[in-house]
Amino acid sequence: MTENSNLLVLHASGLNDIDACRRAWLWSQQYSPMKPVPAFWLGTNVHAGLEAYYRQLSPEVLSLPKAPEAMTPAQIALQEYERFGNEAYEKVRQLSGSLWETFSIEFDEAYSLGHKMLQNYFIFDATDPLPGEVEKVEGQIEIEIIPGVGLSGRIDMVRRDGNRRWIVDHKTSSSGFGNFAPLDIDGQLTAYAYLYYAKTGVLVDGLIYNVLIKSLPNFPEVLKSGGLSKSKSQATVYALYVSALEELFAAPYDAIPGEALVPYVEILNHLQQKGWSSFFQRASSTRNWHELESFQNHLVEKAKTALSIIEDPERLAYPSPSTYTCGWCPFLSVCKAKEDGGDYQAILDSRFLKGQVW
Ligand code: SF4
Repeated sequence: MTENSNLLVLHASGLNDIDACRRAWLWSQQYSPMKPVPAFWLGTNVHAGLEAYYRQLSPEVLSLPKAPEAMTPAQIALQEYERFGNEAYEKVRQLSGSLWETFSIEFDEAYSLGHKMLQNYFIFDATDPLPGEVEKVEGQIEIEIIPGVGLSGRIDMVRRDGNRRWIVDHKTSSSGFGNFAPLDIDGQLTAYAYLYYAKTGVLVDGLIYNVLIKSLPNFPEVLKSGGLSKSKSQATVYALYVSALEELFAAPYDAIPGEALVPYVEILNHLQQKGWSSFFQRASSTRNWHELESFQNHLVEKAKTALSIIEDPERLAYPSPSTYTCGWCPFLSVCKAKEDGGDYQAILDSRFLKGQVW
């Protein structure tokens, strides 16, 4: 439920949770784990940095005060990442109480990784910008689906070029997406297209997945012979390889003799072509009228289901156990206790925080 109304709000990012397991979905509306999942926490902080970056890239469009002359949009964004990340860090520290010592390292690491990912992203984006110009950044849209149930979504960015518009969704991912084909039926993206249409009457031209992979490029390995590794599978980028060559030959790149660079021509060409593709990926997908109409029908059914679960939880919030969903479920021990007649409510009260905290 939202704070200011009795509307039960379904979130575009979690629409499938109701179908995955009604019981887990219901409990997740009422309780949160003692700490956020570090991977999601990192993603939220990175979003804050990206939001600041894209706002500063188009301050005129967004009617914002311009950044001080001396600071670039990337620097402002990193500053915002640090401010937001520190606040988020403090929140986890306080709410996790005596468990913080156990948790702290993973959050330290996530914070540091997110910072470096953003630094690299800004270099990448400067050479490979998204289509169009920023029209809106981080817009919250909420609509009513049926009486008592709403749909809410936070759209990361809308870009515009003339009459064309794209919705951009930032994602942090551990391994990237080898196969983007499922994006064409991805429910979260359809929900964003649907919300945007409901709000503006405009059918977007594309939905862009902007993926930041949680991985950092390395300096190329220095071999026993003293030369640099020429392996094409190494996780590096052209600029780092050039820096390594400058270090190896103790000279600026332009001053390194041509014959010394001959053994490296192939790997340099390869890295130039590859760009940042091992670290950042983008893919676009579209939705037509039929898809939005079909989504709307499914949404109404989901809304009715959600409402009925809330109204009659004992009968309708049944579990859907499976090795696929339960492995990830934060309520696994609670669920087991409920099934075997244990005091599951005591576990919920002692090991979870009340409300949707993270
Ligand atoms: S443990 Fe499995 S069945 Fe139980 S609530 Fe979680 S997902 Fe549902």
